[in-house]
Amino acid sequence: MMAHSKALLVLENFIGGKFVPCSSYIDSYNPSTGNVYCKVPDSGKEEVEAAVKAAKVAFPIWSSKSPLERSQILNKLADLIEHDLEAFAQAESKDQGKTITFARTVDIPRAVYNFRFFASSILHHTTECTEMATMGCMHYTLRTPVGVAGLISPWNLPLYLLTWKIAPAIACGNTVVAKPSEMTSVTAWMMCKLLEKAGVPHGVVNVVFGTGARAGEALVCHPDVPLISFTGSTLTAQRITEKSAPHCKRLSLELGGKNPAIVFDDADLLQCIPTTLRSSFANQGEICLCTSRIFVQRGIYSEFLKRFVAEAKKWKVGNPSDPTVDVGALISKEHLEKVRSYVKKAQAEGARVFCGEGVDSLALPTGNQKGYFMLPTVIAEVKDESCCMQEEIFGPVTCVVAFDTEEEVIERANSVKYGLAATVWSSNVGRVHRVAQRLQAGLVWTNCWLVRDLNLPFGGMKASGIGREGAKDSYEFFTEVKTITIKH
Ligand code: NAD
Repeated sequence: MMAHSKALLVLENFIGGKFVPCSSYIDSYNPSTGNVYCKVPDSGKEEVEAAVKAAKVAFPIWSSKSPLERSQILNKLADLIEHDLEAFAQAESKDQGKTITFARTVDIPRAVYNFRFFASSILHHTTECTEMATMGCMHYTLRTPVGVAGLISPWNLPLYLLTWKIAPAIACGNTVVAKPSEMTSVTAWMMCKLLEKAGVPHGVVNVVFGTGARAGEALVCHPDVPLISFTGSTLTAQRITEKSAPHCKRLSLELGGKNPAIVFDDADLLQCIPTTLRSSFANQGEICLCTSRIFVQRGIYSEFLKRFVAEAKKWKVGNPSDPTVDVGALISKEHLEKVRSYVKKAQAEGARVFCGEGVDSLALPTGNQKGYFMLPTVIAEVKDESCCMQEEIFGPVTCVVAFDTEEEVIERANSVKYGLAATVWSSNVGRVHRVAQRLQAGLVWTNCWLVRDLNLPFGGMKASGIGREGAKDSYEFFTEVKTITIKH
């Protein structure tokens, strides 16, 4: 850390095992106070070049280590992060605006688990072998690491999503250049401080901080980075696809969502209501998997809406470091304005806001008056064509609408450009299978939400992404396969 100013935290890039200062910096805000508290390197081509070079130098040694050796190092890193869990959680909450409770129970434990999970799964892959006896041949496949992986992650689950990429990439023997979001860089920088102690050789993990336009694009356009794993918005993914096309790069794209929850009249509302509140408002609604369209069968619509709104009003908004708070601050002033503008648009179109923004008042502690806070907001009587029902809002706003039949709701749920996740609530087993099968979503949860087995594929259809991540899927993405034929 450099001493720009006593009060400010100043981050440095991590290249070839060393912290390296940058010639210019970006301001990073504490979303719960609105104050600048951190300076993030504004890296560009030069810094990316140095990081790619370091990653290329480290590749031959790292890729020739056995999976077991890499696994032991990943496990050590997991232990070190876990040892500092509280410090990581405090930093994530301050940097992102999320509640300390969420950072402590979701973000950081999952970052630890990402390393443990891939440390284990890398030990269990086998490759294929076939025989053509009549030709006197046998064939087998080999999987080898690809090279330098470019990893680009968003601001909503900073360390959680970055480690979901770093762990499989290095477990498979690649070296990496990672670029976290310029708005949430602190926990990635803290992780870099642990790499040497964990035994990660210099140059295996390089982290370059900065904006998407400069650092991100330099990485995407670098000829020596053959694969890019990206999590972020659909718009950025389009740009990355264009920019990487001349190099024919391998891309994994995990993008936005407009996720429906479908509540049939035989749903167990005692389970459904608290879970759907969580799926709508957890992490301020800033999770790609959050529910933002709730379709409720007409017979229970009024009752559902009444109970849902009454419970939403109980969610406490305030200082993220207060463990009794349920909703922290949104990531930035601009994002808060964008999310609020959707509520205004819905009202202008004749929809009704049942609670939250513009309806209830928000009392904030003295130190948080300039923070980017918003109440959980429930909108109803909104048309399917409305931008609130079509576009990703990515904030604590959810829409509740009525439906009549199974056929109708499947069609309406599918009538958006996205296809990431969906939730189905019903006690009819046949129906949940039928509906889940026909929904255009990469993940369907029935009678639950956000229950994940990391072994299984994660990813979206349509504008929600290309490719899947998971034990086998990430292994396949981060390795090259080769078929070898031997004549007896
Ligand atoms: P974003 O697309 O603005 O930024 C994501 C990352 O890409 C950041 O690190 C950013 O600096 C970088 N970037 C921006 N422009 C770039 C460019 N031209 N070239 C290279 N890199 C560039 O997204 P965001 O606002 O940080 O994150 C929110 C979005 O992420 C939402 O749409 C959300 O749904 C999505 N998301 C998806 C998943 C998933 O797994 N499907 C998970 C979390 C978030």
